[in-house]
Amino acid sequence: MADVRGAILRGTAEAGRLHRALDMRARIAAEGGRVDVFGTIVGLGVPLIFKPLDGLLGAFMPQPVPGVLITTRRPLTVQRFTGAHELGHCRLGHRPSLDDETILRRMPFQEGADYETQELEADAFAAEFLTPSWLVAEHFRRQGWSARDIGDARTVYQLSLRIGASYQATCWALQRHKVIERPIRERLLGAQPRVVMRNLLQGYEPPHWWGDVWVITERDQGALIEGSRTDLFLVRLKEQSSAGYLWSFEELEKSGFVTVRDEREAPAGETIGGAVTRCVTARSEERKSGKLTFRQRRPWLNRERPLSELTLAFDLYGPEEEGWSQAERRRLAA
Ligand SMILES: [Zn+2]
Repeated sequence: MADVRGAILRGTAEAGRLHRALDMRARIAAEGGRVDVFGTIVGLGVPLIFKPLDGLLGAFMPQPVPGVLITTRRPLTVQRFTGAHELGHCRLGHRPSLDDETILRRMPFQEGADYETQELEADAFAAEFLTPSWLVAEHFRRQGWSARDIGDARTVYQLSLRIGASYQATCWALQRHKVIERPIRERLLGAQPRVVMRNLLQGYEPPHWWGDVWVITERDQGALIEGSRTDLFLVRLKEQSSAGYLWSFEELEKSGFVTVRDEREAPAGETIGGAVTRCVTARSEERKSGKLTFRQRRPWLNRERPLSELTLAFDLYGPEEEGWSQAERRRLAA
């Protein structure tokens, strides 16, 4: 029987050490976003290659120099988890490892977990490296979520996008960090992210369901949205339209997004004169990155200072394609 507790402690401690060595927490507090797993691998000088792999999600080879291989045949969240798992093998000085689907189903933190020690260590490393408690807390703070919100699948789904983990992995991380207890985790795992997405889109059918739906509000001021090329933005902003102010979303189209819906929701039970919620749904169809600023102003007073603004950065390059990672390409281009 494997020393499960010892393996989990070794994996978790190494992830924490690496976060501290890279100043990851301060970096994310300043810039937002998630733990940059591919950038970390590349930054440590470990060769990282993406390839269409058959029957494997990834591999770690310690010889002749340590290297990591990740499949192109999976979504970005799976590529990120696989990358973190292989980075764990590398940091913990493990033997070569060929990793298939089972790495997604194993639960090192669950009672009764018992499998090969180096796999336990790499799984514990990956979980702690990608979803540490301080990262969850940081996004709670930014979004103004309360303890009550976290029992809601819609909140957990938005959290999962912001920390760059799958919905399921996020549910498990919340229980591991004692943010929720087992019955809530079980209920949340019963909810399908696809159903949450459908509800958010309120009848709009995208050409396919490969992308995610980011709900963007005033809380995302200064945020970095890191997703995949087919993601959708659902921007929801309070608008003082009765006072003549309108949000302008022209930068969405200029940046290559397609606006598929533009509506106003009146506040429930309120009389005329209150702020409405402007809801704009926009779709991305290709890899892109950049910055967006939305401005609320009176359209006939063009030079007037906007009543309010929302600026965010986006990077929709996922999933990683065959060859070097985006992190490596950008390093080479710089
Ligand atoms: Zn492994």
